[in-house]
Amino acid sequence: MSARTIVRAGAALVASSALIASGVSGTAGAPAGKKAPEPSPTAIGHGGAVSSVDADASRVGLEVLERDGNAADAAVATASALGVTEPYSAGIGGGGFFVYHDAETGEVSTIDGRETAPSGITQDGFIDPETGEPYPFSPELVSSGVAVGVPGTPATWEAALRDHGTWPLAKTLAPSIALAAKGFTVDETFRQQTLDNAERFAAFPDTAELFLPDGDAPKVGSRFRNPDLAKTLAHLAAHGTQGFYRGPIAEDVAATVQEPPIAAESDLPAPAGSMTVDDIAAYEVRRQAPTHSEYRGLDVYGMAPSSSGGIAVSEALNVLEGYELDGEANLAQSLHLFLEASAVAFADRAAYVGDVPDVPVETLVSQEFADSRACTIDPDQASERPVPAGDLDPGDGQCPTVENIEQPDTENISTTHLSVVDQWGNAAAYTLTIEQTGGSGITVPGRGFLLNNELTDFTAEYDPEDPNRIEPGKRPRSSMSPTIVLEDGEVRYVVGSPGGATIITTVLQVLLGRIDLGMTLPEAVAAPRASQRNTAATPAEPAFIDAYGDTLEPFGQVLEPSGDEFTSAAEIGAVAAIERDEQGRLTAAAEPERRGGGTAYVVNPSPR
Ligand code: GLU
Repeated sequence: MSARTIVRAGAALVASSALIASGVSGTAGAPAGKKAPEPSPTAIGHGGAVSSVDADASRVGLEVLERDGNAADAAVATASALGVTEPYSAGIGGGGFFVYHDAETGEVSTIDGRETAPSGITQDGFIDPETGEPYPFSPELVSSGVAVGVPGTPATWEAALRDHGTWPLAKTLAPSIALAAKGFTVDETFRQQTLDNAERFAAFPDTAELFLPDGDAPKVGSRFRNPDLAKTLAHLAAHGTQGFYRGPIAEDVAATVQEPPIAAESDLPAPAGSMTVDDIAAYEVRRQAPTHSEYRGLDVYGMAPSSSGGIAVSEALNVLEGYELDGEANLAQSLHLFLEASAVAFADRAAYVGDVPDVPVETLVSQEFADSRACTIDPDQASERPVPAGDLDPGDGQCPTVENIEQPDTENISTTHLSVVDQWGNAAAYTLTIEQTGGSGITVPGRGFLLNNELTDFTAEYDPEDPNRIEPGKRPRSSMSPTIVLEDGEVRYVVGSPGGATIITTVLQVLLGRIDLGMTLPEAVAAPRASQRNTAATPAEPAFIDAYGDTLEPFGQVLEPSGDEFTSAAEIGAVAAIERDEQGRLTAAAEPERRGGGTAYVVNPSPR
């Protein structure tokens, strides 16, 4: 028996005792004697709520809330379950951003658990030495060791529980350990995502063994078990996250990045990364102040860099603050302005936001700066895009702008978001990812999880002026936008979504739909979407083009399909949101259709 086998056998024992200690039935379903509620994208009631893209994960969160865990406990448990049932979107091999409202202190705080570039990465890390050009994005760079950042998700869970939680890590992980061991039922989305990745998954034998058993994606309706992941999570439960950042798992992660375990017959280049065990041991979450802005009397909180989400959402809202928006007589103009405000925010995001020390966060989220940007917006006519970035020191200039930094941005529907509100009014907005759907495609051998390819979020070619340039120890700029909105110090909305750079516009659009356009929260979540990111035409879902294409044409707005109409590529985002009204009534809203539909639960549903 190898040393590694001994450790894992020990961890399995710990896993079962963690399950017993936590009282979790092992089915990851409802507690004994209580029937699991029917999954539904909308739930209304009291006593706590959870919303995510996945029924099993939302049920895990609900159970925590039912057993008097708080929003942080439920968020960690739900996130860990998402790592089991949505392994191509999230998991311990990735990173994310956690925003929390503490009802007792009234404070909103954040945890930046973004993946980090290893100390050995070089400026030309993404340049193919053979061609002198950047590696083609796909499949070369996305399926590589060089794009893997040091994972931040386990450290985020530990920090969230330490700062806000009431349960120990082992107790929050117990349901997902059970879920990984006993399995979940494969749905269309899981099978399709596997098929979409089948070629590159097949290039990595450990990934193929796990996700392509017998050479095919798991069948819809079959049970997908991941015993290696159950053991890995049990190891974390037993040893805390030091069990991830030090010792055998860290050694396996570093070895896998340095020598991606690729099939001998594969011609995928899979360039190696430099990550060492020291890089992994050195990982730390960051706790920085949230971004904060006011919008129509509400307080909007989001993530500061390394995510651009909080800044961009706040800036766009600030720009819109100066206009009257509504969903009736003024709908066309309101949508036009939504597109214009998004373009402006994306120009400034490219110019100023990245994981660099001097990001002018306060200026970018200020009303004064937004007002200086409004001069680029014509309420009746689409701007000529790209619009230039704004001058940070507008003085009394006419319409001061600076040169743009051009950015390729990614747009896909990987990543996942969960929202939780508990019985005390604490709230968690947590977006987590492994970047691409399927991450790097590289499974850590014997550990049951995929490594991220988050470093592809850096700009591939080094430009010293670009705040998103590659640097050792740096975090690539994200668009993730977990957002909490308060009214008079109490939580009102919790919102977030996957979708790469479209996350920003999706969160913005949901808030506008709810706050300005007269929609209920479930309507705002379901509404067709568009994502203007400072390009001439606006990518939009087919339903948005059908509904609003003609309406927006007189404004000179050109819409284009966001992807092939008959595939999920046409979908923008997959929102999981919660609203809490002044009386404490909760409306939890997940997607009704996108990505196969999500699930929202409340602890005590209101009678229908
Ligand atoms: N890497 C993306 C980001 O941090 C998230 C991945 C995605 O949703 O496409 O913004």
